[in-house]
Amino acid sequence: MPASELEMLTEFQAMTAKGAPLGSGGVLVLDEDTCIVDVVRNIAEFNEEESCGKCFPCRKGTSHIVRIFDNIIRGLGQEGDIEKLQEIGKTMVAGSLCGLGQLAPNGLNATLRYFRDEYDEHIRDKHCRTGTCRELRGTRREAAAAGPHTGQVAR
Ligand code: SF4
Repeated sequence: MPASELEMLTEFQAMTAKGAPLGSGGVLVLDEDTCIVDVVRNIAEFNEEESCGKCFPCRKGTSHIVRIFDNIIRGLGQEGDIEKLQEIGKTMVAGSLCGLGQLAPNGLNATLRYFRDEYDEHIRDKHCRTGTCRELRGTRREAAAAGPHTGQVAR
């Protein structure tokens, strides 16, 4: 969630309405020097490693998501990648047997809701505003100029 939502109640229904349901037991606080795409990619990799492989949607979905993210952070992202990620996420929610697979797309969905512009910059402009994704354009100075994660695009 962006800084503008910091004052909201940390309560199940309120958080769920904002697309970030409580329950996983972890809260990440990220500043403007943190690349949202890179963070979600790392969470996706964690899910891939933790998947026991028992059911197909989770086993294939987690690894497919990581592959798409790897392409995006290397400058190989393509139009339609976001929609592909969302489609995989929906299949995982509907078809996974346990909470790991069912909740795995949460980070993706929440960040797409609030930070879609950063995904678009990575895919369309081959640009990482924080300079984290080293194979893309972007510098720490640009990140500072853009300020906190507000949805503004550093140019
Ligand atoms: S959803 Fe659960 S049971 Fe299915 S592969 Fe993932 S971790 Fe295993």
